[in-house]
Amino acid sequence: MSSQGLLIVVSGPSGVGKTTICRALVERLGAELSISTTTRPPGQGERDGQDYFFLSPQEFQKRLSRNEFLEYAEVFGHLYGTLAKPVLDSLSAGRIVVLEIDVNGAKQVRQRFERALMFLILPPAPGTLGHRLNNRGRDAGAVIAERLAKADGEIRFALESKCYDHTIVNDDLEEAIDRIVTVIKQEREKAQND
Ligand code: 5GP
Repeated sequence: MSSQGLLIVVSGPSGVGKTTICRALVERLGAELSISTTTRPPGQGERDGQDYFFLSPQEFQKRLSRNEFLEYAEVFGHLYGTLAKPVLDSLSAGRIVVLEIDVNGAKQVRQRFERALMFLILPPAPGTLGHRLNNRGRDAGAVIAERLAKADGEIRFALESKCYDHTIVNDDLEEAIDRIVTVIKQEREKAQND
């Protein structure tokens, strides 16, 4: 029986429900949610050290030059990255660690962690994204418009990347969460029996 941790990646377009899904994985599986760094300014209600570590571009570059990132990417004109140390420490301790990252980051994780379990979350229909982005009230109208304009291309690019193990359509949120939890539990059992 091994006590190896399990690295989970969750990707999908803005407004698809990734954050809600990731929080459910924390609750239902005792998983740990990696807190990313970003150079984008905090949105309404976001807190440093809780939603993200908000870094200046200079600070981000400094960490990049020290090779501190497990993966990083530019998304919507800002840099986002996962610090390696907390993730590697938690994996060594046997934890399930969840990364909510974009497809470029996911590709880097796929190369480094063959056994990572990667989920792509898709909306049931394109219209649902706009609805959710407007309802959460975090971003300004122009930001939402930019994200919606990019969603189609992003989805196509993610599907073509072929780096995801499972594509989940978030039609019914509870159903989507159940499916992901089931897959993770199965994978965990398999890994423990290896
Ligand atoms: P948001 O600005 O809405 O919080 O995030 C924008 C995008 O950046 C989302 O697709 C999110 O998954 C992605 N993202 C957040 N953190 C990271 C990260 O650490 N690395 C990468 N590659 N993408 C991230």
